[in-house]
Amino acid sequence: MSLSAGIRRKLNENLRRVHGEVEAACARSRREPSSVSLIAVTKTVEIDMIRLLLDVGQIDLAESRVQALAQRAGMIAEMRTRMRSGGSSRSLPAPRWHMVGHLQRNKVKAVLPHTCMIHSVDSLRLAEEISNHASRGDQTVDVLLEVNAGEEKAKQGLAVGAVLHLADQVRTLPGFRLCGLMCMAPLVDDRETIRRVFVRTRELFEEIQSERCGGPHFAELSMGMSNDYAIAIEEGATMIRVGGALFEGISSPE
Ligand SMILES: *Cc1c(COP(=O)(O)O)cnc(C)c1O
Repeated sequence: MSLSAGIRRKLNENLRRVHGEVEAACARSRREPSSVSLIAVTKTVEIDMIRLLLDVGQIDLAESRVQALAQRAGMIAEMRTRMRSGGSSRSLPAPRWHMVGHLQRNKVKAVLPHTCMIHSVDSLRLAEEISNHASRGDQTVDVLLEVNAGEEKAKQGLAVGAVLHLADQVRTLPGFRLCGLMCMAPLVDDRETIRRVFVRTRELFEEIQSERCGGPHFAELSMGMSNDYAIAIEEGATMIRVGGALFEGISSPE
């Protein structure tokens, strides 16, 4: 069940194109390309594609649902163990799994063993639940607070006015490392509307840094998806979460 060389070539081509656009956006905003990490969102692809991503060196991966993340992380871990114990000359690098979708408190326990960073914390109760489980398991998990900077009614995320206070409340929780903010732009065509949401989130990020209520690790700004990552980088994103643009032109394997 291996993917054809054509799929690998196409994936490499897409990765090169995205990295090229990241570099161009960095050049426009006088930033170092190394200050932006690409996270591949794998929710629409099969396990073989995830394996291929790792094989070509894309190790930051993300899912938006706990069950999918746990299942896929487990499958990849098993593959790596099998390769090692089978004395195979081939190996796969270890992925870093990011949880980017809405997280319910009753799913925290299931996601913690698999994830290095949760991008979507939007309440004190959720933060406390994460802290309880992580510290009990002697784990420290990296966390971002999700901001509803577009103030969309149906969107999850914290109201802009609530973020600074929550950051101050959670930054010292045990097992919990507050690393920054995340936002999602509204699904609209107007680039200026999208940009305003990123600007607002960055201003909030800088305010938290300057008031010193984010703590020592508060350095990441997760914003930008396939349609808007270039704008997000121009406005300061340090992590972009890209799915569709990486898999364009690749039909999913049977
Ligand atoms: C699906 C998803 C992405 C990636 O979206 P694309 O448009 O496919 O790049 C990024 N962030 C979150 C939270 C997502 O759910």
